[in-house]
Amino acid sequence: MKAFIYSSEFEKYPYPAYVPFKTQRAGRTRSILQNMGSLTGGDRLEAVPQPAARERIETFHTPEYVDALIEAGTGRITSDLLYMGLGTPDCPVFPGLYEYASLAAGATLLGAELILSGQADIAFNPSGGFHHAHRSAAGGFCYINDIVIACLALTAAGKRVGYLDLDVHHCDGVQEAFYDRSDVLCISLHESGETLFPGTGFIGECGVGKGEGYTVNVPLPVETYDEIYMEAVNRVVYPLLQSYDPDILVVELGADVLAGDPLAHLRLTNNVYPPIIEGLLGLGKPILATGGGGYNVENTVRAWALCWMSLCGEKPEHDMSVGMGGVMLESLEWAGGLRDRLLAVDEHRTMHVPAVVHAAIEAVKEKVFPFHSL
Ligand SMILES: [Zn+2]
Repeated sequence: MKAFIYSSEFEKYPYPAYVPFKTQRAGRTRSILQNMGSLTGGDRLEAVPQPAARERIETFHTPEYVDALIEAGTGRITSDLLYMGLGTPDCPVFPGLYEYASLAAGATLLGAELILSGQADIAFNPSGGFHHAHRSAAGGFCYINDIVIACLALTAAGKRVGYLDLDVHHCDGVQEAFYDRSDVLCISLHESGETLFPGTGFIGECGVGKGEGYTVNVPLPVETYDEIYMEAVNRVVYPLLQSYDPDILVVELGADVLAGDPLAHLRLTNNVYPPIIEGLLGLGKPILATGGGGYNVENTVRAWALCWMSLCGEKPEHDMSVGMGGVMLESLEWAGGLRDRLLAVDEHRTMHVPAVVHAAIEAVKEKVFPFHSL
């Protein structure tokens, strides 16, 4: 079964309006899929999460940090919170913060449990993907690291996890959690830390001790476009995942890689998702997928709807929204359907991109591939 994980409770706790992170993206994705008849029926189900219990949250986060989160959820800022990254412009304190973040973590955990119990082979939590939350600090709109908590549930069950982070930002919180472990292969493609938050994720960061070679970072230059991005996926991601042969794939689908995202500088279209997901499905493993970043709300919602359909094995030619898009997608801007128009590659802006990406691919291969007999 393919499980779409969502609760209307998410709508009760929006981030403050000035924060670009819009929690309603998940509900809008669901609503579009429902309109298109792609949400449920056949081998698809909707699963409704409960908040993650504190003891599950503390499998990664410190008790002191969880106390601080609960206090922050009352909406009061104290000086104690600031040193944990709470009460900043990126991670404001607001009423309902803890309810929202623990529910998002519960939703990703539910996906892991559905896969572990064999009830689902695909689970998608568009309300998850908080990859910047550290053990005892919030960062980049992230309070509770649902991905780490779900991966820890999977490894506790004896599973090896192949984690792929496609968000435009480096997954610093996830990397921190598994940096010295080999039971989670953590691969991140992202805009280089030289030009983007959180300023980490360089090729030399490739794990320590038993984890050496099991953290893989592919930093990408500003203006990276579809074709060259796919080259990095094809030459780095699939060989590593094939060699590692995980039991389960966990994929963070932050859509802030797309052209037009107000916080980042890559130039992808959502046409990269169907082939990437098809490649992952081809590995024949269960997939737990989460949302993540994506600050152009319309583009993000369309991308995630397309991702869900791809995860369910629907082929692009079955994109029934084309032609009827305006009605089905509840927006006149989307008359072209779920897929983005292909973007022309502007040679002046992108001239330097292939050489930089090729160099990154070669450096990653040299640094990491030997650990995987490649
Ligand atoms: Zn991001």
